[in-house]
Amino acid sequence: MNKKIVVLGGGESGVGAAILAKDKGMDVFLSDYGKIAPHYKQQLIDEGIAWEEGGHDESRILAADEVIKSPGIAPTAPIMVKIAERGIPVISEIEFAGRYTDAKMVCITGSNGKTTTTLLTYHILKNAGINVGLAGNVGSSLALQVAREHHDVYVIELSSFQLENMYEFKANIAVMLNITPDHLDRYDYKMQNYVNAKFRIIRNLTPEDAFIFWQDDPVIQAQLRQVTTEARMYPFSEHLEKDVDAYIDADDELVLNTSHTSLKMPRNHLALHGLHNLYNSMAAGLSACLLDIRKEDIRRALEDFEGVEHRLEYVATVNGVRYINDSKATNVNSCWYALESMPKGVVLILGGKDKGNDYTEIESLVKEKVKAIVCMGKDNAKLLDFFTGKVDAIYDTHSLQDAVDTCAAIAASGDTVLLSPCCASFDLFSSYEDRGRQFKDAVKRLK
Ligand code: ADP
Repeated sequence: MNKKIVVLGGGESGVGAAILAKDKGMDVFLSDYGKIAPHYKQQLIDEGIAWEEGGHDESRILAADEVIKSPGIAPTAPIMVKIAERGIPVISEIEFAGRYTDAKMVCITGSNGKTTTTLLTYHILKNAGINVGLAGNVGSSLALQVAREHHDVYVIELSSFQLENMYEFKANIAVMLNITPDHLDRYDYKMQNYVNAKFRIIRNLTPEDAFIFWQDDPVIQAQLRQVTTEARMYPFSEHLEKDVDAYIDADDELVLNTSHTSLKMPRNHLALHGLHNLYNSMAAGLSACLLDIRKEDIRRALEDFEGVEHRLEYVATVNGVRYINDSKATNVNSCWYALESMPKGVVLILGGKDKGNDYTEIESLVKEKVKAIVCMGKDNAKLLDFFTGKVDAIYDTHSLQDAVDTCAAIAASGDTVLLSPCCASFDLFSSYEDRGRQFKDAVKRLK
C-alpha cells in the first residue's frame, strides 16, 4: 500500500511538499484550516492532489503514516495535539525534501540577518556559475525544487519553527548568525527552548561539515559549552583577538580564512554597510570559501550585492533628508543594529505590535543618535511611557502617512528618517512588506 502523507498548511512549503510526495508515488492529502491562495489551489488541482480548506477532516488526517507540517502551525494547535496523541511522526518540508536529494546544503539560521545572509550567499554562488537553488523562508519550496529542478547546492534560510521538526536532515554548512530573544510566545517564554530549536541546525553534522558562527554571541557561546558537534568550527568576529576565521585586520581589510580558500578585501568595498552586515558578509563569504568558489568571484559578489528590500533600504532623499526603510526590523535587536549603522541626527519611527519588547537595549543608542521618535501604531502607550524624557521630542501618530508627514516637518537637511519599528506589523498592516511599501509610497508623496 502507498504511504499515506498528510500535509498541513497550503502555502509555499506545503504545496511543494505535496507535489514531491505525489511524484514519489505516495498517497497525499493536503489540509489547511484557513484559506488557500488561488494560485496554490490551481497548482494542487493541476497536480491532481486531494486537498481541503477551511477546516480539518480529522479522520483522514489521523489515518496518516506521516504528517508534513508547515512552520506556521504551532505544535499546540488542536489538530497537532491529536496527531501527537496518535504518535504519528511529524516532520517539516525541509526534512522531507532532504530525503530525496544529495545536493550540498548551506543552512542559515539566527535571530536576525537570515534573509540577508541567505540572499547574499545565493548571490555569490549564482554569480560564480553554480547550479544553486534558494529555499526555506525565502525563494521557492525546497521540496518543489528537489522534485522538479535538481540543483547541486541549496542555500536555505531556516527559522526556529522550521528547525523544530527536523531530525535526520543534514546540512553541509550550518550558519548561526546570532541568538537574541524572539518568538518567545511560541516557546513557553523560555529562552532555552528557543535556543535549543535554533541549535537543531547542527544535528547530524559530520567531521566533513562546517559550522560557521558568531564568536562574540554570549548565547551561542553558552550553548556551545552544553552541546558537541564533530563539524569543523568557523567562528567569525570583528576583531582578531581570538582564534577566528573571519575578521577585520589592522589595515581595515576583511580576512576570510578556511582550509579551502582564503582571501582579503578592503572593508569599505563591501556592498552592505553596518556592523551587522559585516557579520552577514563574513558568514556568506566563509560559506563560499568552503564551497571552493574562486576568490575573485567572492570579492566581486560581496561588492556588487544590491541589498534586500525592507532591510535598511535606501528610499529617497527629500529636502536633504535621507529616508531609510527597515520595516523588517521587527524586534529590538535588529533596530539596535540599524541605529548602530546610522550617523547622528536620526528621526526614528517606532511601533506596531509589541512582542513583549524591552527597549532598554536601544536606550543609549537612542540618546546618542536620535533627535526625535515618532510612534506609529495602535498601541503607542508603552513607547511613549518608556522614551518620554529620554529623547528631545516624541510624537504620537496613528498612520504611516501621518508619521512620515510628522518626520518631514521635524527633520532638517542632513538628518535621516529611519523606519525601524522594533515591532511586528500586524496592527495596521498585513505584513512587514506591506508596511515597508506604504512607507515608501508615503515618502514618494512628499516629493
Ligand atoms: P531575518 O531574516 O533573520 O529576519 P533580515 O536579513 O531580514 O533577517 O534582517 C532583519 C533586520 O535585522 C534588518 O532590518 C536589520 O536591521 C537587522 N539585521 C540584519 N542582519 C543582522 C545581524 N547579523 N545582526 C543583527 N541584526 C541584523
